[in-house]
Amino acid sequence: MIPEKCPKCGEETETGARFCGNCGQALAAEPADIASEPVVAPLEAPASIVAAPVSEAPAPAAVPAYALPDPIAEKRSSKATSALVLSIMAIPAVLLPYISLVLAIVAIVLAKQIRPELKSKGVTTATIIIAIFAILLVVAVSIYGFLTVSTAP
Ligand SMILES: [Zn+2]
Repeated sequence: MIPEKCPKCGEETETGARFCGNCGQALAAEPADIASEPVVAPLEAPASIVAAPVSEAPAPAAVPAYALPDPIAEKRSSKATSALVLSIMAIPAVLLPYISLVLAIVAIVLAKQIRPELKSKGVTTATIIIAIFAILLVVAVSIYGFLTVSTAP
């Protein structure tokens, strides 16, 4: 370590000492200035960062207004999800064609009811597509069953 000298009295001081042990002169003048500059800069930077969220605060405050109709939207989306589940259930239910048809039709009716009220129409679109697929599957299985039965001896 390089010994530092007191700028006032010239006494050698301990490296890193803040004050001269001999005269009490504040030694850290230069290192302290260098150190304090980065300290001051981060202090100012967070201040501006803090100021930004404050100015953004009104925006999150507006979100609760959107959040208010959420329970209704959640009901709709849960309805849409149950319609989707019905349409998905209709596919394995193809083994029981009437149940599959009922499930698929109920799913389509539900989806069409909810569709105009729902913001995201992806779920209802998927429901209708899956339900139509289930109905086509029922028709295909029925035709296949009819053909195999009719060709059987
Ligand atoms: Zn001194």
